[in-house]
Amino acid sequence: QKMSCPLKSVLVIGGSGFLGSAIVAELVALNPAPKVAVFDLKIREDTKYPNVSYYTGDLLNSEDMRSAIKSSDATVILHTASPVHGLARDVYMKINVEGTGNIIEVSKEEGIQALVYTSSAGIVFDGDDLINVNESAPFPKIHMDGYNESKAEAEKLILQADDRKGMRTCALRPAGIFGPRDRQCIPGMLTVYYSNQTKFQIGDNLNLFDFTYVGNAVHAHILAAEKLLDSQTVDKVAGEAFFITNGEPIYF
Ligand code: NAD
Repeated sequence: QKMSCPLKSVLVIGGSGFLGSAIVAELVALNPAPKVAVFDLKIREDTKYPNVSYYTGDLLNSEDMRSAIKSSDATVILHTASPVHGLARDVYMKINVEGTGNIIEVSKEEGIQALVYTSSAGIVFDGDDLINVNESAPFPKIHMDGYNESKAEAEKLILQADDRKGMRTCALRPAGIFGPRDRQCIPGMLTVYYSNQTKFQIGDNLNLFDFTYVGNAVHAHILAAEKLLDSQTVDKVAGEAFFITNGEPIYF
């Protein structure tokens, strides 16, 4: 059953990517559907939807963003953009931290009511197993890599920017996302499998890793935006971060 949606006009930053385009697909399927727009460095033709406005631009460029917000009449922003895995720390710090700072600044200036940030569960990972932790888990002193460090810094900026009288913000922390159009998680495992690299084991084979189905992550973004705009629920959501998972781990 489709969710109904009180959202009026939503801009999905990174909306041509895996998660962003799945959010767009869900938004346009809502009845009534909000106005939907996408802002992305590169618009992929295979993830384009009818009745969605597409704006090409870099989130490091405030004027690119301002013009997309103005032209789309956006009142809500879902910020899902991030560079791909495996790049240098500087790239992540620049795009995720400086870029998110730009989004916050321009969004406030342009009167955005709610800003939801796609963070990551990896920002609390310190190399040891984390079992049944909640959002009170601290950030590690040293992050696993530049990507997670930048996601943590960006999340802090987002949560600090929450303003109950102005723009409300929250952050969502999915784990490894899988599902239709995943180009990273399952394809990566299949590449290892098809190249026959399966006959080794590192460690005791008991490590845990959390995964999040893309549909659950999509649902979380739409719910978060709705709850930020609702006076009954805003106090529970605004300025907060939430892990997005699929429930208890399943052991075989
Ligand atoms: P993706 O690479 O498929 O999509 C990210 C999109 O952001 C791309 O379309 C890219 O063009 C865009 N982008 C990158 N830099 C940009 C810039 N400077 N300006 C404008 N757009 C830019 O990634 P995804 O897997 O859909 O991830 C979405 C979000 O979820 C990211 O914030 C990521 O950190 C987070 N996340 C992903 C996973 C996962 O397993 N995929 C897990 C946890 C969190």
